[in-house]
Amino acid sequence: MLHIPKQCEEAVSAFLAENGVIPAIINGFWDQTEKTVFYLDEEWWGNFKPHLLKKLNEVSRIFGTPPPILSERPLEAKEWQDAWKRYTKIYRFGQDLIIKPTWRKLRKNPACPVISIDPETAFGTGGHASTRLCIRQMLFHRKRRPEYFNEVLDMGTGSGILAIVAACLGARYVLAVDIDQDVLPIARANAEKNGVADIIEFRKGSIGNCDGYYDLILANINEGVLSNLLKGLRSLLKPDGILVVSGILREQENMFLEKATRNGLKRLTRRSLKEWVSFSMMMRKSHS
Ligand code: SAM
Repeated sequence: MLHIPKQCEEAVSAFLAENGVIPAIINGFWDQTEKTVFYLDEEWWGNFKPHLLKKLNEVSRIFGTPPPILSERPLEAKEWQDAWKRYTKIYRFGQDLIIKPTWRKLRKNPACPVISIDPETAFGTGGHASTRLCIRQMLFHRKRRPEYFNEVLDMGTGSGILAIVAACLGARYVLAVDIDQDVLPIARANAEKNGVADIIEFRKGSIGNCDGYYDLILANINEGVLSNLLKGLRSLLKPDGILVVSGILREQENMFLEKATRNGLKRLTRRSLKEWVSFSMMMRKSHS
């Protein structure tokens, strides 16, 4: 756990994300002392700790705050779950969609679809900016061209949230893939809770485990992984299909766009929230 003064929170979050630890961030919450607590995965902790300590000192010098307190203690699963559950909210996407944790109730019955998610240990409450950007892109494209929702691929499904949103918005078939096999039962259970388990097929793996061609591909991972997957993702797109990528930091966007262009993709839309950017892209005609 890291207790980080509020002013330093964005800088430390960005540093964690740059180092490929996005899943640690969404589990952050604000306690009564206005500090942020992150849950850090044991596996990479050993190698990463010296770099993190250096960064924490640097950030506290810049912001003139006391150094962030790093407390290392294994959390009991229940202690952790209870703590972050208190801070998980209901997320509204205009008049179009509501995403809520399974344990929260809505006061009124809304006119739009409501998706209930229990992410357990997987990424994807609907609260992280990169997920929200993906959902906004989906809602935008659905209004313009509902036919983009025939066949959908969700690369890096986590809690299953994007696959479930796609299915609830009318997708006929969704393939949801993740390299982390532990998230798949969680994602499947979420699909069942939302009545769309028969539309979504869950598979362990990555690009190499996908077949078919897709009208819409969603990939909320991080810049490094996305760059490596670009060629494979493009090869799974139907000629008029749309690729929505998210999990890219603002300072990485130009670099990412150059790689995407080299891989025969052109940018359609750009959306940003906090320090995060998402693009929707299509194949350039010369590459289709
Ligand atoms: N889709 C969810 C969302 O938008 O909230 C979860 C996104 S989470 C940031 C990224 C997910 O991608 C994680 O569950 C991680 O295990 C998975 N992942 C990371 N690298 C991957 C790869 N090369 N292929 C497939 N999945 C990957």
